[in-house]
Amino acid sequence: MTKYLEGTNLGFQSEFEVLKVRVTPAPIDQIISFIASTLESGHNGWIATVNPEFIVSARKDPQFLKVLNSADLAVVDGVGVQIALFLLYHIRSPRTPGADIIRDICTLAANKGWPVFFLGAAPGVAEAAARALRAEIPELQVAGTYAGRPIPEEDEHIRQMIKNSGARLLFVAFGMRNQEIWIHRNLPYLGSIVAMGVGGTFDYLSGKVPRAPGLIRKLGLEWFYRLLRQPWRWKRQIALPIFVYLILKELLLFKSNIKKKG
Ligand code: UDP
Repeated sequence: MTKYLEGTNLGFQSEFEVLKVRVTPAPIDQIISFIASTLESGHNGWIATVNPEFIVSARKDPQFLKVLNSADLAVVDGVGVQIALFLLYHIRSPRTPGADIIRDICTLAANKGWPVFFLGAAPGVAEAAARALRAEIPELQVAGTYAGRPIPEEDEHIRQMIKNSGARLLFVAFGMRNQEIWIHRNLPYLGSIVAMGVGGTFDYLSGKVPRAPGLIRKLGLEWFYRLLRQPWRWKRQIALPIFVYLILKELLLFKSNIKKKG
């Protein structure tokens, strides 16, 4: 059963469970202070950006669920998670998609002089994404870019590359699940660094894939836009109606439990 864990004043200390997945609906300023304090104290940390596809996928995948629930921050990426938090806990959570907050994080990195590494996506895409961000944030130090593959055989090589680059921030675009499992497996060997899984963000930044216009994003319809532009994703997006069904079921169960207790 979904539980209310703690916190009323939303920050990264506030944790909620949505279908067994831990969500920490921190607003952007809390995310930035988490990164700054982690790196200033010489620690490492990682941020997952949770959307309904993550939650539905983790339900049937104990390894992914365990990894996801070990993230230091599991912020709200999709409108579906925002609505679920409202229905289950009556909280208005901020939405902080990876594709948006990457700019705030890069601005912090540029101000602090922390180099950033871009890992994943198709060959050349990470580099183009880094270039696009540097055009917006000229002081950004790009420690390195590499497409790579999320297979254990490549781990040692990628770890060395990141360590030698002096990166303090790491964006990983290996796709949902792969990127979270990669971060969980490799983070302990990367020194003081903050990592974040960013899914298709490099594709957007590089211009390889167009992002939904601002109004469509504001209306929470980015998923629909993606379905129209990338119809082959339907198999993945089937997660959305499943998510709605599961949340409604959870809500009914929750209400009937309250009635029974009353
Ligand atoms: N990707 C990759 N290696 C893989 C699988 C995916 O580099 O083994 C990249 C892919 O090229 C794309 C991104 O992961 O850039 C897509 O991630 P996802 O489908 O999770 O995007 P999201 O839905 O999170 O935006």
